[in-house]
Amino acid sequence: MNILTPPPAATDDRPARPTREEAEAAVRTLLRWAGDDPAREGLVDTPARVVRSYDEFFAGYAEDPVEMLARSFEETDGYDEMVVLRDIRLESHCEHHMVPIIGRAHIAYLPEGRVVGISKLARVLEIYSKRLQIQEKLTAQVANTIQDVLKPKGVAVMIEASHQCMTTRGVHKAGVAMVTSRMLGAFRDNPSTRREFLAIVGAPRAGGLEG
Ligand SMILES: [Zn+2]
Repeated sequence: MNILTPPPAATDDRPARPTREEAEAAVRTLLRWAGDDPAREGLVDTPARVVRSYDEFFAGYAEDPVEMLARSFEETDGYDEMVVLRDIRLESHCEHHMVPIIGRAHIAYLPEGRVVGISKLARVLEIYSKRLQIQEKLTAQVANTIQDVLKPKGVAVMIEASHQCMTTRGVHKAGVAMVTSRMLGAFRDNPSTRREFLAIVGAPRAGGLEG
């Protein structure tokens, strides 16, 4: 899939969803694969719990970020300064190992007649995060969706995250953060706009906001 293509809407032709019972049976198979006994007391309810967790981890497949944003913008009377939302908590899952990607994101745009509530910017990130992802694709999807729907003068998205497939297995590199960014419009073409964004993102945090 081209990473610039918007995700399929909920009505596409993805393979039919298995039943909850089928999903729980698959978890039992993985428990046996790990070497344990799904029938022992501590594991009896685990398949149901895992499947319920998946409802949360992957809730983003049932939502359309384009549609969410498109019904929430407002026309402004000329506000055209940069809007930046920084240090947004990011929780996603890597599509290669299905283990967590944990980090933070910074999202900025330069309005051109339309703004959205800042919570909607965080929602765009959340909807794409609650799907199986690679960080590069997630970064591009968030930026492209905001650009396509709001049509601002530019969008910048930066994500810093650690991948548990790298920290808890494989090369075991704890404390390594991967940084990705996507700059569109003025953030790509205008060095001073990009510098302003990077300065805001890199500025010291006020006490109590660090997390
Ligand atoms: Zn991975």
